[in-house]
Amino acid sequence: MDFMQISKKDFQKFVENLIQSKEEVVGVVKKGKHFAYDILEKSEQLCLDYTETILPPKKYFLPVEETLLKYKTGVASSYEATYGKSPKVIIGIHPGDMAAIALLDKSFSEGEKDSHYLNKRANSTLIGIYPTQSFPHRFSNSMIEKDAYKAADCFLVDLGNDYGIEVVTEKGKKIASAMKAVAGEKGLNEKIAQAKAKIKDEVSMPFSRRELSEFLHNKETHAEWKKRAEKCFSCGSCVLVCPTCYCFDVKDTVALSLQEGERKRMWDGCMLEKFANVAGNHNFRKLAGDRLKHRIFRKGKYIIDKFGMAGCVGCGRCSQACVANIASPVDIVQELKK
Ligand code: SF4
Ligand code: SF4
Repeated sequence: MDFMQISKKDFQKFVENLIQSKEEVVGVVKKGKHFAYDILEKSEQLCLDYTETILPPKKYFLPVEETLLKYKTGVASSYEATYGKSPKVIIGIHPGDMAAIALLDKSFSEGEKDSHYLNKRANSTLIGIYPTQSFPHRFSNSMIEKDAYKAADCFLVDLGNDYGIEVVTEKGKKIASAMKAVAGEKGLNEKIAQAKAKIKDEVSMPFSRRELSEFLHNKETHAEWKKRAEKCFSCGSCVLVCPTCYCFDVKDTVALSLQEGERKRMWDGCMLEKFANVAGNHNFRKLAGDRLKHRIFRKGKYIIDKFGMAGCVGCGRCSQACVANIASPVDIVQELKK
């Protein structure tokens, strides 16, 4: 990894030039009291000093709804895959969300490759930033280890008047050179390490992610699932804001003529009651407690066992989104541990 440096003023100029070059550039912007990823129209909109965004940047690679293919029926039946566009550059991704993209990269590359996701991913350069503001629900340091580097092209570290830059990939090198970032002054890597060491989470998982997977073994029948789920509205907010959730539904929309149609996929979530409804109107996770248990097992065990990567990156969005205040993985694990 190379270490470089750029003044904040020059970084803003670079973002402005990028926007003016007519490339689609996405960054974190302030929306009232909240933050969200959005297309930048001018560099002043970019806000890198933020707590957490409402939704993670995965929406640019796995949109809420997308058309996978269009088809024609009848004698001359045919189909054509459709591929959506992704932004050229996404700026301001926190390490947790970056680690989540690394997980999606892995998941959508396994077995039958998901070209819709992978095409969009290949077209984008990802510029991360280490958090500068605390977010009371975040526990990423307990979960992500080095996974963020599997997706990031480069990471910014706030050094006051400058950004230190960790350059991770060839794409990262290109973008750092487009920024006219300079090779770091002597001791820059130590300065970056010190700035990163100051970033502490306010909560933490009581286990490493590997220990968590082992801890969850044999906890399927624990009374906590049912007890906690008594307050669950099955609204699905906790999974719909989650950067590592990648379940989707696929639906065909056929024209009235029955001659053509579109196949679409849209986000789905295991905390929604109908998610596990199958033929014959059977539901294999009918009870809210079973859905909550599944969600935590998927985050804390199944994904780590399958991919060796975090199924939960500790972004804390689920804790914030849950109106019943029961979704926090840390609180659930603490309760199971008691
Ligand atoms: S489970 Fe919660 S804390 Fe973990 S990645 Fe998903 S939204 Fe973030
Ligand atoms: S745990 Fe909370 S956010 Fe998730 S479905 Fe239940 S009530 Fe909704």
